[in-house]
Amino acid sequence: MHLKDVALIIHNHRIVLISHHNRRVPLPRPGQVKYEQTHIYDLVFCRTIMPIPAETTAITIQRLSMTPVSNSVISRHVAVIGAGAAGLVTARELRRKGHSVVVFERGDQVGGTWVYTTMVESDHLGLDPTRTRVNSSLYCSLRTNLPRESMGFSDYPFFSRDDPDRDPRRFPGHREVLMYLKDFAREFRIGELVQFETEVVRVRLMEGSKWNVKSRKRDEDEAGFDEIFDAVVVCNGHFTEPRIALIPGMNEWPGKQMHSHNYRVPEPFRDQVVVLIGSSASAVDISRDIAGVAKEVHIAARTVGDETFGKQPGYDNMWLHPMIGSVGGDGTVYFQDGSLVLADVILHCTGYKYDFPFLETNGIVTVDDNRVGPLYKHVFPPALAPWLSFVGLPWQVIPFTMFELQSKWIAGVLSNQLMLPSQEEMMEDVEALYSSLEAAGTLKRYTHCMGISQFQYNNWLAAQCGCPGNEEWRVQMYLANGRNKRARPEAYRDEWEDRHLVLQAHEDFIKYTSNIVSDKCVSE
Ligand code: FAD
Repeated sequence: MHLKDVALIIHNHRIVLISHHNRRVPLPRPGQVKYEQTHIYDLVFCRTIMPIPAETTAITIQRLSMTPVSNSVISRHVAVIGAGAAGLVTARELRRKGHSVVVFERGDQVGGTWVYTTMVESDHLGLDPTRTRVNSSLYCSLRTNLPRESMGFSDYPFFSRDDPDRDPRRFPGHREVLMYLKDFAREFRIGELVQFETEVVRVRLMEGSKWNVKSRKRDEDEAGFDEIFDAVVVCNGHFTEPRIALIPGMNEWPGKQMHSHNYRVPEPFRDQVVVLIGSSASAVDISRDIAGVAKEVHIAARTVGDETFGKQPGYDNMWLHPMIGSVGGDGTVYFQDGSLVLADVILHCTGYKYDFPFLETNGIVTVDDNRVGPLYKHVFPPALAPWLSFVGLPWQVIPFTMFELQSKWIAGVLSNQLMLPSQEEMMEDVEALYSSLEAAGTLKRYTHCMGISQFQYNNWLAAQCGCPGNEEWRVQMYLANGRNKRARPEAYRDEWEDRHLVLQAHEDFIKYTSNIVSDKCVSE
């Protein structure tokens, strides 16, 4: 791999490497390092650390190459699709390993989901394939549902900044997350790798495991541009293609139906009777948002206990019901327990579908009832590994740290530093996962749902990469937040009891960002 612009400093007669962002980088073991072309000294292709003249204080080296124990390190030409959190960290990890990276982003800035927009799609339910598309599903009032300490990348903590323009809260508003991702992109100079306003319209497998990536610049009505890559990493997110509830009678129901993807602010629901389907974090937030202005809010949920149905504490206009059984042509909504309501709006907060409209793999990778497969460890299709990979498919997770580990793994495999099992062994692993899900009665569409098992998964990825796994505070913070959310659904973002975990997190953050500890795989 190559680390660009590393400063080599002699400190107390020892050599210290400082990366361009002024962090200490662990020194490779003697014999594993070779320097290429310094500004000051000609240290071309030395196999071991050079004796540096005592009077030298700093040498800027342009490239530091570290040979793996056996194979030589290989640099690939890699396309990354998407510059959201997943694409940004993937680009960083790939570049750290010396790959040449092109990130395609159809939007005009980095951040993906976190780029809030007031725009909505032309079909509010998201059924019309020709509708105008909007990437982000964020609503105006959204605050994170995870504490910021747990959200950040491992070596770039999501600190609150002492800046009046920033949101210092532990569960900040969406703009703060976007600012963090922009800071990250700036810090690691990812922007220079990104082709903005460039949509990937086709990724086609060619002879010899290469990929033809066809992209099109926004507003340019031309054939597009083809480029050949060794590998493609798909980071296109999965909160953009709405999944709706299928309700008997819905096509004749006269009211307005929409998906939460197109919900922004509560005002359009003033004095309306709204039936909201779902019980996810967004459904909970949106129902409360709307209850402030609507005449009535009725929530239809599959996954709550019978005892919680009925009028909701703290509200005089919100009720919880079992799922909708059917809807009538006169505007009535019938719930499965026989209760009914005459409603103006049905709001589907029913999640999203994985969608890879650009991907042509000759049927090797498919999406079946929201299972993307076959994928080894949710990342590599065995028959196409390592030339095609996916970052960010698992859900009910702490996303950013998982993206980071998945991308480290991909970057390491692509540079021949990490090995994958044989295609057959990977397929066996996939089949074993499918069998275990089936045995547990888990529906296909929950294949990539992780919850608590994410930590085992992350630790597995970390072990592949030779990195530390999840910090214990991060695990405990995730669990504490879940408990707090259930105990204080209204107030969990402002009242919490896990202060000791916050302190532990900050102790680690200081280590990660100081010159003392450099064991977080910040360099290779
Ligand atoms: P995205 O952010 O969606 O990025 C994908 C990018 O790919 C986009 O920029 C898109 O424009 C681009 N793209 C797609 N297709 C193409 C193409 N063909 N060509 C070029 N570019 C393309 N996570 C948390 O950690 N904390 C939270 O509190 C939290 N709250 C959330 C609330 C909501 C309502 C939602 C929807 C998600 C929330 N998440 C939260 C999860 C969030 O999705 C992840 O944090 C993360 O932002 C996902 O990043 P991504 O890069 O995988 O996808």
